[in-house]
Amino acid sequence: MSKDTLTSSLTAGLVGMLRDKKVSPSEAVSAYLKRIEQVNPKVNAVTSVDSEGALNRARALEKQDPQSLSLYGLPILLKENICVIGQKTQCASKILEGFRPPYDATVVERLNQAGAVIIGTANMDEFAFGSSCETSCHGATHKPWDTKRIPGGSSGGSAAAVAAELAPMALGSDTGGSIRQPAALCGVVGVKPTYGRVSRYGLVAFGSSLDQIGPLTKDVEGAALLLSVIAGHDPKDSTSVNKEVEPYTQATQKPVKGMKLGIPREYFANGLDPEVQQSLDEALGVYKKMGLSVQEISLPHTQYAVPTYYIVATAEASSNLARFDGVRYGLRVPAANTQEMIKKTRGQGFGPEAKRRIILGTYVLSHGYYDAYYLKALKVRTLIRQDFDEAFKSVDAVLTPATPTPAFGLGEKTDDPLQMYLSDIFTISANLAGVPAMTLPCGTTKAGLPIGMQLMSPVFTEERLFQLGAAYQKETDWHTRRPSLA
Ligand code: GLN
Repeated sequence: MSKDTLTSSLTAGLVGMLRDKKVSPSEAVSAYLKRIEQVNPKVNAVTSVDSEGALNRARALEKQDPQSLSLYGLPILLKENICVIGQKTQCASKILEGFRPPYDATVVERLNQAGAVIIGTANMDEFAFGSSCETSCHGATHKPWDTKRIPGGSSGGSAAAVAAELAPMALGSDTGGSIRQPAALCGVVGVKPTYGRVSRYGLVAFGSSLDQIGPLTKDVEGAALLLSVIAGHDPKDSTSVNKEVEPYTQATQKPVKGMKLGIPREYFANGLDPEVQQSLDEALGVYKKMGLSVQEISLPHTQYAVPTYYIVATAEASSNLARFDGVRYGLRVPAANTQEMIKKTRGQGFGPEAKRRIILGTYVLSHGYYDAYYLKALKVRTLIRQDFDEAFKSVDAVLTPATPTPAFGLGEKTDDPLQMYLSDIFTISANLAGVPAMTLPCGTTKAGLPIGMQLMSPVFTEERLFQLGAAYQKETDWHTRRPSLA
């Protein structure tokens, strides 16, 4: 089989080819390494490659039975904030220069046990702060469909890499949309699991009450397979929930006729790009044809999601980032005494967006403002969660656009943080409410840029997302389209 056919197959397709021994793990790994070499300079999605480690691992796998390993020989890229022993885990920040974790994240252990091959790391916004992948110390990632545009963020490297076929799958992290928004803008599938479904052990913390690791793949079936490997209770993460993992891959084969979809009117208000609106209308048409009923619903506190998120997330980020002080990890700028050393290290190590978040977060947590901002935000968060509880009494899942507009240009919003923050308006609520959500491609603009839709369902019903997403992909071919990077 040619290297091109191999890298261009869908995620689930490659799983089958490896299991049936039509390709070997070494062939798969070599094909992707080659493609990274050729294509990555155009997109800057991959920030490090472990060729030797990956090839050794692939060869070792060839002695094992493919049928016994669910991700047998599948290459994967990890967002740079997921710890792998001895590998670069820099969170795209100068402050973690040279840091090499002494332990593996739980998701990494699970990937290894399932036979996956980690081939390298993917670019991201610094510490996952951002929606465009432009705040990385490695330079911005470029959107494979139009390299003058952003790929979305913060898992922009993971999304761009899957879209550009530098890997059949990747892991990202999602605190307010960082898996789903770039997946939607790059025309791939992204899943943010229920809070507590996937262990956060070994994920460098941003907003500990919001963060989840999740899959980015070309197809829904691939995402179901990958999530079934990484999901489940982990005693090392006290917020991971001890609840059986549903059979996600089986869910992709289940019929959807008779299911009820809710359309929240707040997500289809003024300001939604007309081409996004049109693609969503068409997707709804597809679902109706499959026998689903569609009803308008309300998530009345949606307008408060962005301000609530930017209080809760910055508060948690400011405390999580306190540990980067030049003493234990990465960069240390020498100075006459410890306090000066810490000041200089943090001053030079963090980029402007990280500093903005630390200052905002410290402010909302400070004595005198705590009640007015942080405590109030927690109360509004409860109201947002209750909106979802209420909605799910009458519908099985909620369908919304993934982003208000298709991808904007590189540099277009870097000087306007508020505009940047508003690009997550549709993805943030799922993190605040803790519910699972998936974005998947559902159209393109006239200029050929991908448009995504989002499905959300009650906590611990990821199965439903896979069921609905896979059914849609059986009827449509948006997920099979790839950018030309010739
Ligand atoms: N774009 C959002 C932010 O900047 C979400 C980021 C994320 O999910 N990590 O906070």
